[in-house]
Amino acid sequence: MNLHLEHKRALVTGGNSGIGAAIVRALAGAGARVAINYVTHPELAESLAREIGSPGREPLALEADVADADAVAGMFARIDAAWGGIDILVNNAGIDGPRAAGWEADLAAWRKVIDVNLFGAFHCAREALGRMVPQRHGVVLNISSVHERIAWSGYSAYTSSKAAVGMLTRTLAQEAAPHGVRVLAVGPGAIKTPINRAVWDDPAQMADLRQKIPLGRVGEPEEIAQMVTMLVSDVASYVVGCTVLVDGGMTDYPSFAHGG
Ligand code: NAP
Repeated sequence: MNLHLEHKRALVTGGNSGIGAAIVRALAGAGARVAINYVTHPELAESLAREIGSPGREPLALEADVADADAVAGMFARIDAAWGGIDILVNNAGIDGPRAAGWEADLAAWRKVIDVNLFGAFHCAREALGRMVPQRHGVVLNISSVHERIAWSGYSAYTSSKAAVGMLTRTLAQEAAPHGVRVLAVGPGAIKTPINRAVWDDPAQMADLRQKIPLGRVGEPEEIAQMVTMLVSDVASYVVGCTVLVDGGMTDYPSFAHGG
C-alpha cells in the first residue's frame, strides 16, 4: 500500500481549525506540501505552518474567503506561483449558521451558509479541476456531512448545502474521471471541533448526542484526517464519486436498535 504523498501539492480550505487542521497535519505527515487556507485567525494558520514545515516542503498560509470567487482565483494563482500547480484539493471550509426554523430564518444568514459550503466548494473545485484535468491527474475531496442524508431541524441551510455538495461531488466526478482526476467526498458524523463546542460543553447535550451514535462516542478530527489521507492517496485509486461516511454508525438508524 502506498500512502505516501511525497511530491504532492495539497490545499486544505479552512485548514486553521478543527477537522481542517487535522487534515493539514495528516497530509504533511504523509509527505505532501500543504497550503493552509484561512479566512480569519492568520496566527493559527501561521503557527500550524511552522509546526508542519520542513526544508524543501515549506507550507503556504493563504487568506481567502472561499465564498468569493475572485479571492479563490487569487489563492490558486499564489499556489501556481509558489509550486507550479496543485495535485490535491480538500474542500473543508464550512459553517452551520444560526439555528432557526425555516420560516423564521434570516435570509442573509441562510444564504451565507450556502455561499460558504456550496459555492465555496464549487469555486475551489472549479479552479482545481481547471488545472488537474489538463495534467490528467489530481484528487478533489469534499468534506460533506452525515447531514447530506440526515435532516436537522433548525439547520435547513446546512443540510441543503451538504446534500448539494454530495451531488456536486458525484457530478464533477463523472465529468473529471475520464480525464484521470478523482472527485469524492467524506461525510463526517459528530466530530469534536469548535463548530459544535456548545454541544460538547453541555453534559446533557453530549449524552443525547452519544445515543445517536452506535459507537457511543463522538469522533476525533484525526479519525476524519486519516480517512481523507487514505482517500486522496493512490491506495484509493479506484474510489470515485461517492461520499464515504465516517460517523461511528450515526447513519445506521441507531434508534432501531431497540426494535421498530
Ligand atoms: P471549524 O473548526 O469551525 O472549522 C471550520 C473552518 O472553516 C474554519 O477553519 C473556518 O475558518 C473555515 N471557514 C469558514 N468560513 C470560511 C470561508 N468563508 N472561507 C474560508 N474558510 C472558512 O469546524 P469543523 O468541524 O472542523 O468543520 C470542518 C468541516 O467539517 C465543515 O465543512 C463542516 O461542515 C464539516 N463537518 C463537521 C462536523 C463536526 O461534527 N465537527 C460534522 C460533519 C461535517 P475561520 O475559523 O477562520 O472562520
